[in-house]
Amino acid sequence: MEEKITSAEAEEKEVVSKNFIEQEIEKDLAEGVYDHVQTRFPPEPNGYLHIGHAKSIILNFGLAKKYGGKFNLRFDDTNPTKEKVEFVESIKADVQWLGADYEDRLFFASDYFDKMYECAVLLIKKGKAFVCDLTADQIREYRGDFKNPGKESPYRNRSVEENLKLFEEMKEGKYADGEKVLRAKIDMASPNINMRDPVLYRVAHMTHHNTGDKWCIYPMYDFAHPIEDAIEHITHSICTLEFEDHRPLYDWVVRECEFPNPPRQIEFAKLYLTNVVTGKRYIKKLVEDGIVDGWDDPRLVSIAALRRRGYTPEAIRMFVDLVGVAKANSSVDYALLEYCIREDLKLKKARMMAVLDPVKLVIDNYPEDQIEELDVPNNLENPELGDRKVPFGRELYIEREDFMENPPKKYFRLFPGNEVRLMGAYFVTCTGCEKDENGNVTVVHCTYDPETKSGSGFTGRKVKGTIHWVAAKTAVKAECRLYENIVDEEKGKLNEDGSLNLNPNSLTIVPEAWIEPALADAKAYDSFQFVRNGYFCADCKDSRPDHLVFNRIVSLKSSFKLK
Ligand code: ATP
Ligand code: MG
Repeated sequence: MEEKITSAEAEEKEVVSKNFIEQEIEKDLAEGVYDHVQTRFPPEPNGYLHIGHAKSIILNFGLAKKYGGKFNLRFDDTNPTKEKVEFVESIKADVQWLGADYEDRLFFASDYFDKMYECAVLLIKKGKAFVCDLTADQIREYRGDFKNPGKESPYRNRSVEENLKLFEEMKEGKYADGEKVLRAKIDMASPNINMRDPVLYRVAHMTHHNTGDKWCIYPMYDFAHPIEDAIEHITHSICTLEFEDHRPLYDWVVRECEFPNPPRQIEFAKLYLTNVVTGKRYIKKLVEDGIVDGWDDPRLVSIAALRRRGYTPEAIRMFVDLVGVAKANSSVDYALLEYCIREDLKLKKARMMAVLDPVKLVIDNYPEDQIEELDVPNNLENPELGDRKVPFGRELYIEREDFMENPPKKYFRLFPGNEVRLMGAYFVTCTGCEKDENGNVTVVHCTYDPETKSGSGFTGRKVKGTIHWVAAKTAVKAECRLYENIVDEEKGKLNEDGSLNLNPNSLTIVPEAWIEPALADAKAYDSFQFVRNGYFCADCKDSRPDHLVFNRIVSLKSSFKLK
């Protein structure tokens, strides 16, 4: 099958590349660089986590676990402009849901502001940092570019005493935003632009969600992050490729701030998925424009959205494993994620009957008011899931596509004169249909053979088609939501004006599906296979006992095309 090929390819890639971080760690342990392994996931609390973050979480947690080490969750909340407390709670919930247990090691970078300040003072005393009065624009201008070396700031040679005094005054609020910054004194001629006297601290008169108004100077990411890692005794600081050029600065900070046993940074490629939208800016717009019903709309790939759609942590972990860890950016086909959820649910979930596009089937020789409780196995591939009772009666709902008056060749379902099996029940032979004035089929008629009851050991004859059904009298109504990708990569994700090229069919609402009564008690996040229609999950936002709503997690077959 096609999707097997994708996963096999991914698996092969995994063997080659998955181990590059592990190899580094094992080397460090063997050489005694570290005697333990400590990793962390450092989200900025400025949005919901998505599938890419899941990869980082699972990777970092997995490495700690593999080497008997520890895993921290640390909020990188050093930037008071963008952060929101609401995201802290959602991120904690997502990390826990994924199974990455940080135990009692939940940290906030803002708790280290005092230590960061001390580090800055130490750098000044060592002549490695200076207060600079250039404006942001001037600093940019002086920095030079790939071709041209930078120019030294005229403030670069201030004395240690003057720098100490000015930095103290920055902290005390004597200066307006942008008036002064603290910069590292490294090398304006460095071929690595990150090393050209980078800014370490800026003035920002802002209230921080954790430290309130205690500070009006805030550390820059490149200065703060290595210090956070060092304080927590992180050994391997794993981050994405765009930080590769920042690594010399990372090393400079931990070395010059004199941390014993400094952490080391290792970069890996970001996870990109085809046919999905992960950019915060785009998602925000989709939410604001009412195209999706929030950050957890099941068409998105935030962790909350995947959970709401019915994805499991097991499926996401399997996906991350199959994709592996690479050193080069690439996009993974969305179909691989679907493959993983199918694999995970296949044996775990009961296979129930639900009719999404109903037409009535009347068994004319079946007793009028009789309701039989049939024993139907929940999952033929997994007998451990047992049986359930399914009511059967004279009038049933079947899928409209399971009857054709004039069928093409190789159509084995209902057509006049043909016999099929009603799943878990009897054989029925189609006798005809009724139509309305427009020629639409309104009722299909058939007769049943009582000898053919499922489980009775009947072996008299075989039929080629099996169809599912729901007894009309006891059927329960439900809304089903069917999804397609919100954008189509092949057609181009973006329009010429930069807006998203949305798939108009990303959501189809089936307002009146008929489901078996056993499904009526479905609670939020409960999931099932609906025979032939796919895997479905009770919606956590909109499903109520008097108005059931099911999200289709994934169809049963891959729509993935081999290119
Ligand atoms: P976004 O791209 O959504 O803005 P971000 O990188 O700004 O995400 P952070 O909160 O800074 O989000 O990221 C936390 C951690 O998650 C970082 O270590 C980052 O490298 C990692 N991460 C973010 N996106 C991905 C991704 N697509 N694949 C793997 N890891 C990622
Ligand atoms: Mg970020």
